[in-house]
Amino acid sequence: MGAQLRHADLQPGKSLDGWLRFPPAVADRHESEFGARRVADMRQAIYFGLALYNVFNLTSVVLMPDIVWLSVALRVALVTPVSLFLAWAIGAVSARNRERLVLGGVLNAYLIPLFLFWYSAAPFDAYTFSEFTLTLVFANMVLALRFRDAVVFTGLAFAFTVLAIATKAGLPFGLRWVFVLQSATACLFALYANQRMEHRRCADYLAALQARLRGEAAEEARRAFQDLAVTDALTGLPNRRLLEQRLDAWFAAPTDIAVMMIDIDHFKAFNDALGHPAGDDCLRRVSEVLERVTAGPDAFCARFGGEEFTVLARGIADLEAARLARALLLALEGAGIAHPARSDGEGVVTASVGIAMRRKGEEASKEAVLSAADRALYEAKRRGRNCFSLDLGSPLPLAQRD
Ligand code: GH3
Ligand code: MG
Ligand code: MG
Repeated sequence: MGAQLRHADLQPGKSLDGWLRFPPAVADRHESEFGARRVADMRQAIYFGLALYNVFNLTSVVLMPDIVWLSVALRVALVTPVSLFLAWAIGAVSARNRERLVLGGVLNAYLIPLFLFWYSAAPFDAYTFSEFTLTLVFANMVLALRFRDAVVFTGLAFAFTVLAIATKAGLPFGLRWVFVLQSATACLFALYANQRMEHRRCADYLAALQARLRGEAAEEARRAFQDLAVTDALTGLPNRRLLEQRLDAWFAAPTDIAVMMIDIDHFKAFNDALGHPAGDDCLRRVSEVLERVTAGPDAFCARFGGEEFTVLARGIADLEAARLARALLLALEGAGIAHPARSDGEGVVTASVGIAMRRKGEEASKEAVLSAADRALYEAKRRGRNCFSLDLGSPLPLAQRD
């Protein structure tokens, strides 16, 4: 398949040329959707057509008794096996070659009876003429050759028919022009029918495809908008809105949930010393670290606002939550983001973490757990920063310095 097709790529009136061809990308898509069905349809038409085609072996007995065995041999031993081979082969070649093979096959099926008509010297041989009209109808309307192939087939069929009529021995002059006229009208009729059918097929497909692509574009825009609505513009992390949604979803299930509030230490001083653009850059780098450490389906990291982040982790108990907080602090410190303006002399950006748990079976609301995490964060700040504090739901929180 080619490049992805978009709604804007389809222009009404320009997506189909005079030969009823799609632009390449549309042709690829059409083929991927309908190629297999086209092969099946054509095989069915070939089997059906062959069965009727061989009925003319019987009419040859009466109309061309002089060459009846030649007629039977060409139909049974040439056209039939060649057509059966083509019916198999069209499933094994490209779309364009498939159509070319069928064009060749049906031309072969047309030219052989034409040759028999030309070659026979039997008195009623001209009555076989109706067979040619049937073959034209078969190729253009039953097989429904692609329009450009139908033009080639019909043009060649007409040219050879005129040649046969003009050179056939013993045909009265009056019959010659009658047959030419009959052949011309049959060709025009079959080609006209093919053009109408093919045009309808292509136009219907384009209309349906356009509607589908328009729907896909709308869905994509809706998703992008939804993504924007829940993404923090500066850091690309989920924003407060998505955090709320995630809290609601996770709190609805009876699992252990750790809620961590993370606040960058001395960030005002960082901004004051290096400027807000550098501060923004620092926020992005911190968010990268947090995202990396909390990757996975059971952890979630959002920007809470300002220089504060929230991490959720589910299915873990106090000890694992403490380990995760420690890992976050170590990773941030290890990132080595220079902070030249800290009053405590540490030269890199660090953060403080407050942890609160919603334990399995507890009724605590998300607001209550967030407040508890916030209280624990203040405790961590109070204890000197670059550390975490775990709210135990008791007046004596566990605190740890690294
Ligand atoms: P503490 O260690 O107690 O957390 O001290 P702090 O300086 O980090 O805390 P404070 O609340 O005094 O300052 C937070 C600073 O974060 C102030 C504000 O300018 C800065 N800030 C908040 N949001 C942004 C932002 O989006 N970009 C930048 N560059 N700075 C921000
Ligand atoms: Mg703060
Ligand atoms: Mg801070």
